[in-house]
Amino acid sequence: MTEEKKDENNNNQKEKSETEEKTKFTFKCTRCDNCCLKRGPIPITQWDLEIWAKNGVLANFLPYLGIYNNPNGTMDLILKPFSTKDTKKKDVEDIFSQPTIEDLFEEKCPLYNKEDKKCLVYNNRPLSCQTYPLEYNGKNYTIVDNECPGIGQEGMTKEELKLMRDIAQKINYELTRTRISLPVFSQILSQKIMIDLMRQNMEAMSKMSEEDRSKLDEIFKKSESNKEN
Ligand code: SF4
Ligand code: SF4
Repeated sequence: MTEEKKDENNNNQKEKSETEEKTKFTFKCTRCDNCCLKRGPIPITQWDLEIWAKNGVLANFLPYLGIYNNPNGTMDLILKPFSTKDTKKKDVEDIFSQPTIEDLFEEKCPLYNKEDKKCLVYNNRPLSCQTYPLEYNGKNYTIVDNECPGIGQEGMTKEELKLMRDIAQKINYELTRTRISLPVFSQILSQKIMIDLMRQNMEAMSKMSEEDRSKLDEIFKKSESNKEN
């Protein structure tokens, strides 16, 4: 082999090992639970819904599902983060209002038990939790949270890496499938919100004192007579 050819080979080897170094991803979850405490909107896919239905736990998740307008214009079915700060009762307008993405990062996952420090649905957790913080955008794998302390931890087997990558790819496909079905989910969820509101109102009415109830009757009567005039 000529000296020129040897140099070319050496350079190729060097470039290859540099590329491998850059793309090397090692990860072991440290169970710090930061991603359950401050995660922002947690996307839910149709695959998650199907698995939950198959395992008979779908009803447990329904109260926590919502639809979120992402800042990039896409919409996703999500687990609605739960505020630990504001314990005040929300009014009707609040129920329909869209929280900002910054607000959501301040709120914990509704299925995380802060006292026991554990996920209440670990064996049925969404795909996006199984592969966090790795995502796949259709072309490349990306890290969505550089502060996750699991990144760079040694001990990941080739099989674990392959599984994580496969799940990341699956989410990318499943999110598209879910977005196509969002109009259907949106209808189901809005009907559920209306039923919840009606139930809340009925519960509130049943706890009212006689005095408050007669005041309410007066208000209704007045508004009816205003309509007639
Ligand atoms: S995925 Fe990362 S942020 Fe989440 S619990 Fe594991 S180490 Fe912590
Ligand atoms: S579903 Fe479980 S793993 Fe996923 S964010 Fe919530 S608590 Fe964490």
